[in-house]
Amino acid sequence: MATYSDQAIVLRSYKLGEADRIVVLYTQGRGKVRGVAKGVRRTKSKFGARLENGSIVKVQLYEGKNLDTVTQVERVFAGLEFRADLQHYARVAMMLEVVDKVTEDGVRDAAMYRLLTGALQEFEKNLNPLVVTAFIAKLLLNEGIAPRVDACSVCGSTENLVAFQLSEGGVSCKNCRRGQSVSPEALAALGTVFNGQVREMLDTTPDDVVFELEALATHMVEQHIDSPLKTKAAFT
Ligand SMILES: [Zn+2]
Repeated sequence: MATYSDQAIVLRSYKLGEADRIVVLYTQGRGKVRGVAKGVRRTKSKFGARLENGSIVKVQLYEGKNLDTVTQVERVFAGLEFRADLQHYARVAMMLEVVDKVTEDGVRDAAMYRLLTGALQEFEKNLNPLVVTAFIAKLLLNEGIAPRVDACSVCGSTENLVAFQLSEGGVSCKNCRRGQSVSPEALAALGTVFNGQVREMLDTTPDDVVFELEALATHMVEQHIDSPLKTKAAFT
């Protein structure tokens, strides 16, 4: 059996027996990996708080037959700002849940790893929900989902766009209306988000548009994974 090292984001963990936890890691080199963190539920655990959800860590694991065992953890990113606030943390938990839902164990996806580490670090800096919305847009694009945001997905009209439905291909006009109503301001901003230019919008987008986009992004991702998210309740 071999030992390997990787960089990883802690997606979640769950109890195993009396004192251990299984940690679900999204690694740079191997995609999603489950590892046993032994003794982590004891107060004197050598891993301490380093394996908190949303942390970015350097880990060493020992390959096992069924499960790998975490042997070393060094935290490189803690996310102290977003961890200090329940609503901000709920947004992070949502991103982690989405990545957990759309990925399979052991499938490497360097783009997905970059997207999530980038979003965590950017959100830690400015705590703007637009970062989370932009993350969802990029994740969908990475999954091959490219909704139409500049013209009606039914008739192609670029005027009177009023609604959005992911399963129908994107926005729709007043005559073809499918899905959820969206304000003209949010629709205009959505185009910018899907074009990857969110940075320009961070300081200038009004709160009501930010929250409307966030609700829309949540809705999109729930349609994509075909189930409600567990972690959205704190902010919608
Ligand atoms: Zn139309």
